[in-house]
Amino acid sequence: MRFLFALISSSVSFGLNSSSRLTLRHLHALSSKSQRSTLTTFFNWQPPMATAEESLRRALAEKQSAVEAQGNAVRALKAAKASKPEIDAAIEALNSLKLEKSSIEKQLQAAVSGNDGDASLSREAFRQAAVNTLERRLFYIPSFKIYRGVAGLYDYGPPGCAVKSNVLAFWRQHFVLEENMLEVDCPCVTPEVVLKASGHVDKFTDLMVKDEKTGTCYRADHLLKDFCNEKLQKDLSISAEKAAELKHVLATLDDLSAEELGAKIKEYGITAPDTKNPLSDPFPFNLMFQTSIGPSGLSPGYMRPETAQGIFVNFKDLYYYNGNKLPFAAAQIGQAFRNEISPRQGLLRVREFTLAEIEHFVDPEDKSHPKYSEVVNLEFLMFTREEQMSGQSAKRTRLGDAVSKGIVNNETLGYFIGRVYLFLTCLGIDKDRLRFRQHLANEMAHYAADCWDAEIECSYGWIECVGIADRSAYDLRAHSEKSGVPLVAAEKFLEPREVEKLVIAPVKKELGLAFKGNQKKVVEALEAMNEKEALEMKAALESKGEVEFYVCTLGKNVPIKKNMVSISKEIKKEHQRVFTPSVIEPSFGIGRIIYCLFEHSFYTRPSKAGDEQLNVFRFPPLVAPIKCTVFPLVQNQQYEDVAKVISKSLTAAGISHKIDITGTSIGKRYARTDELGVPFAITVDSTKDVTIRERDSKLQVRVDVEEAASVVKSVTDGQRTWEDVWANYAHHTSGSADD
Ligand code: AMP
Repeated sequence: MRFLFALISSSVSFGLNSSSRLTLRHLHALSSKSQRSTLTTFFNWQPPMATAEESLRRALAEKQSAVEAQGNAVRALKAAKASKPEIDAAIEALNSLKLEKSSIEKQLQAAVSGNDGDASLSREAFRQAAVNTLERRLFYIPSFKIYRGVAGLYDYGPPGCAVKSNVLAFWRQHFVLEENMLEVDCPCVTPEVVLKASGHVDKFTDLMVKDEKTGTCYRADHLLKDFCNEKLQKDLSISAEKAAELKHVLATLDDLSAEELGAKIKEYGITAPDTKNPLSDPFPFNLMFQTSIGPSGLSPGYMRPETAQGIFVNFKDLYYYNGNKLPFAAAQIGQAFRNEISPRQGLLRVREFTLAEIEHFVDPEDKSHPKYSEVVNLEFLMFTREEQMSGQSAKRTRLGDAVSKGIVNNETLGYFIGRVYLFLTCLGIDKDRLRFRQHLANEMAHYAADCWDAEIECSYGWIECVGIADRSAYDLRAHSEKSGVPLVAAEKFLEPREVEKLVIAPVKKELGLAFKGNQKKVVEALEAMNEKEALEMKAALESKGEVEFYVCTLGKNVPIKKNMVSISKEIKKEHQRVFTPSVIEPSFGIGRIIYCLFEHSFYTRPSKAGDEQLNVFRFPPLVAPIKCTVFPLVQNQQYEDVAKVISKSLTAAGISHKIDITGTSIGKRYARTDELGVPFAITVDSTKDVTIRERDSKLQVRVDVEEAASVVKSVTDGQRTWEDVWANYAHHTSGSADD
């Protein structure tokens, strides 16, 4: 357990987990079993053993005592009018103790802020520069800005829209097309019954507290998390024990009940951040936006919090469409709505966002994947449960090894982890700032077989951008039960198979005589026994003639006699095996991926004169909002005509581009397009041939006017690389690249 705290200190201090995935956190947190175990771990907790940070805290406390003792000694010497050399020696000793203390403080500061005290400042400055550029160039804008905006709602402006549509187009190509997935498009407005069955109506909640005077709402766990992180990072005077306790709180934050959260908030004296007013007790707040369908107001509905339910409820038809064959996957891209209590961190936690979800349905007895061999040799950062629990860091791991060792539960889950890695890195996510983190036991719902999050590191820390979960048969079962429509698949046998079946036959007449009005409940409970229970009852009835049997719907034991039920094993012929498929679900938060992509692509470089920093987005052509700009070098009719001819060819080739015939200096025009991440610029400086400039290297080649569009198309389509172009065309070395 102790190592868990070390892990959490490194992974949660800046981290952002998904807000509120009901199925992974809320269902788990709300199950009475998990609450019981949480209480046990929380209150039976013992301080962890020494870590580097902990020994530094202890050393600091000791040094502080030594400084105080030496200070007292100096004062005592002075009061006793001791000799000057004696006092000077004592002062020297005091000064050297102070120096030692300050050196420990520095080491501790570095340890608590992940050795990057300065880095956190530059992280802020980096984010500020990136976000300013993004908002100024209308990649995204706070929605309804002229009315002072609404927290957690953002618009994508023209370049943002283009990036988003490129990301989604690549998602469709990489997943839907590659796997022959069945894409669907379901409504955002969802009737209550669907979300009741899925559990969202009852459990899709976060715990909220209110400022008792102003009524302002805050997410309770965020306040506690911020308090613990701030204390750990800024208050070096806290004892090692206190630090360990705060880390334990961070580690168990997801598990805390409303009462436990409230107790901690009170214990730590946490108040409303804006007013310092006292806070209410935490209470659950359902994150779904409620509405009603139709004018009567009698039919309740919600804006969907995820797109997955639309796929689950269509399972029967999709299975039929797929020729009644498994495995198959359905996919959906669409808006999801979550009324986040306190949205923050820009595009990372918003109230309406685009989700792209895949539900891959598979036989629970065969989770192999036909294309698994294509990803088996990929190597990337994986952060296993064991590594997290033992305080290690994420390790570069061969995917095939993680699957064969059983760390990743099955091949299909492994296959999707590999495909997600390829998807994100092709988009331009830095592979060294991408890791796959396995969920800890306290994060997983009881029914989930295994879950991994693709986390991307940005200035806010490690952010969960894609969740990849083996959700077993939970969702289809829940909708089968609620709708009464069996959402099952069948494996037809080539030859009928003889199978031994347990037959439980309650004798209704006898049970009716014995239990009267409760007969139905007793019959149901008898029929619901599993094989082990039934065989135990059979043995007990044969030896004793009567057993006590607990009927949970009655909440009590009833006596069952031998004549009330017959339990036997029979050989039956079966032609097929009917089962509920398992679901493997990769779920992509498109806005989060795009924001991380923005940060991973952003850099600044000095202007040619060296007097200012210019902003650049190094988007790969695949995602760049505009692939190419076309400029006449100077304002001149002939050059403009050539630019228009090239523009026409680019349009015909389907290459998004922008033609800029303003008289602004070429350097300024380059800087303007670099800031939009446009990878290529064609400059017209003659009527025969033109230059093509690559954004990041600023290198230019000379190409015939007729060839310019096709060269740009070939590099943006990925048929050739810029290095290839550079090797095959004349180099242009004029100083006009920047000015
Ligand atoms: P979940 O269903 O909670 O696992 O969320 C699926 C994905 O949606 C996560 O991996 C995130 O990328 C994204 N996501 C969840 N909540 C938000 C939010 N409030 N704002 C933006 N993206 C979100």
